[in-house]
Amino acid sequence: MSDVRNVIIIGSGPAGYTAALYTARASLKPLVFEGAVTAGGALMNTTEVENFPGFQDGIMGPELMDNMRAQAERFGAELVPDDVVAVDLAGDIKTVTDTAGTVHRAKAVIVATGSQHRKLGLPNEDLLSGRGVSWCATCDGFFFKDQDIAVIGGGDTAMEEATFLSRFAKSVTIVHRRDTLRASKAMQERAFADPKITFVWDSEVAEVQGDQKLSGLKLRNVKTGELSDLAVTGLFIAIGHDPRTELFKGQLDLDAEGYLKVDAPSTRTNLTGVFAAGDVVDHTYRQAITAAGTGCSAALDAERFLAALS
Ligand code: FAD
Repeated sequence: MSDVRNVIIIGSGPAGYTAALYTARASLKPLVFEGAVTAGGALMNTTEVENFPGFQDGIMGPELMDNMRAQAERFGAELVPDDVVAVDLAGDIKTVTDTAGTVHRAKAVIVATGSQHRKLGLPNEDLLSGRGVSWCATCDGFFFKDQDIAVIGGGDTAMEEATFLSRFAKSVTIVHRRDTLRASKAMQERAFADPKITFVWDSEVAEVQGDQKLSGLKLRNVKTGELSDLAVTGLFIAIGHDPRTELFKGQLDLDAEGYLKVDAPSTRTNLTGVFAAGDVVDHTYRQAITAAGTGCSAALDAERFLAALS
């Protein structure tokens, strides 16, 4: 059994590394579980990031995350490229178990495990991520000025992405596998009224085409099986996100969509000494800067909680 730490951080995206930086600079010697295969978080899967303040000419996603990691490490954060496989967060001393079965103990825990965007599950999808394929119009819409774009999905997010993208795009085609939308009436009406937006109903993506860049889609009508081509250079997949909260079920309160609940504007969860930040909490903004911001808040909340203990 290890010594009792001040704070353990689970997750290594902008939220986790920012929490690590702040707690390290407060001399709390944080232990950070970065994840076994996905250290660095969602931005490791993208190319140019143009909206993280401080980088006038933009920065590549992996480089931004390497910088955040190095900055946290410089101040003494202990970084472990491993997954947490079990937690017990209820008592005054929290336990966190790694993949080797080692149990780590701490007075405070910050959860920053992020959320996973749902994928179509097609071969070229990951290969062309950041090369025409995107999951975030706010992040990438600007790159698609005067281009033909497809948005996949039929919910509020898909309608919001499509209406946002129509500001830049030449055309936006919403591809939906049913003949009605799940989106709220107001969002639907806004999309229907937009002259740049058209709909392809009862259809799914059968193929994401392109070598170095997206060149088009093959669509399949789910009722007739008929295949058709859609010439687009942008594909925005808006079929939902899954917050990574499986580990915490039964301990931390989750909302109806499975995100961790916090006592906003603080990052306190329902358990004393447990804080949560980033996309595992946020289904509204989902940006690197907002994740980093709440990571900072979680670090400060944990710091104050620990100070009150002594
Ligand atoms: P994440 O970045 O998802 O990190 C969570 C981390 O937790 C991961 O490293 C994971 O390995 C780790 N983890 C999970 N479970 C465990 C566990 N059990 N044990 C240990 N570790 C665990 N935002 C922008 O602002 N600008 C952009 O240009 C932009 N582009 C994007 C492009 C793509 C392709 C994607 C997918 C997202 C993009 N975003 C962008 C959104 C941004 O990446 C996210 O909002 C942000 O990364 C969320 O940060 P986070 O720290 O909450 O979670």
